[in-house]
Amino acid sequence: MSPEPADAAERRGQPAVVCYDVDNLPPVDLDAYVQARAGAAKVEEVLVPPRDARTFTVPAGSFFRIVSVDGPQVGDLNLFNAHDLTERFWSGKTRQLHATHVTRGDRLWGTLPNMRPMATITEDTLEWYGFDEDGGGVHDVIGTRCDPYTQMMLNGVDYHFCCHSNLSRALADTTGIPLHDVEHHVHDVLNVFMCTGFTRDTQQYFMKASPVRPGDFIEFFAEIDLLGALSACPGGDCGSSHSDDDAACHPLLVEVWESKEPPVGWTSPPPNGYNRSHDR
Ligand SMILES: [Zn+2]
Repeated sequence: MSPEPADAAERRGQPAVVCYDVDNLPPVDLDAYVQARAGAAKVEEVLVPPRDARTFTVPAGSFFRIVSVDGPQVGDLNLFNAHDLTERFWSGKTRQLHATHVTRGDRLWGTLPNMRPMATITEDTLEWYGFDEDGGGVHDVIGTRCDPYTQMMLNGVDYHFCCHSNLSRALADTTGIPLHDVEHHVHDVLNVFMCTGFTRDTQQYFMKASPVRPGDFIEFFAEIDLLGALSACPGGDCGSSHSDDDAACHPLLVEVWESKEPPVGWTSPPPNGYNRSHDR
């Protein structure tokens, strides 16, 4: 290791500056969402079987909930523009604009060039969890999704029910795109109900058993027409392992709720206004 310079303490002691002017984010009128939600009716239910995934669609202006049923279970969520698979959830930018873990009032942002909020979190029954003594929180946007390539690299085992494979199969079934082509559209997820963080000493990604219990849910408002894909992770509550058949796994329920009236003052967000010239 290279030696510390004499002014190491001074260099380390510089103030931490929040990277983005997040006060300039478009405001979220949660009251308006809650009012619209009050008049909403459930129009669809999709049960995601353990160690598998399903897709669902949500029109702009409607809500969807991911509900824990039967037992503690983590879900890996992908979101797409329902009309264009190349516009998809961007976990990295969501992390930069909000935090490592998201909750009520935060938004799930989409990829460039449209870069607009795809969904807004309107309810989260695990909001109470906050951050625990290990620095762990719930619903992270720091993990990717369990995948068979990493499993092969680390353990030399072919395993076909990682979230990446589950999401790929579900997306192939829905779109008709061959599995090997559609898997490129599977992207870094919102780790729904998953409890994760970085270890204090080495900053390594860790997981611990999810605090979710049957009846808990996280609810989203669809800002644009959405195609969602949700995998019930083979890790179950992700308290011990993932990417294998060892953990107890449970289904997850997706409910789609249609509101009678859109939230007062709401319009579906347009694509980002940058003119895309990228001029020198
Ligand atoms: Zn997984």
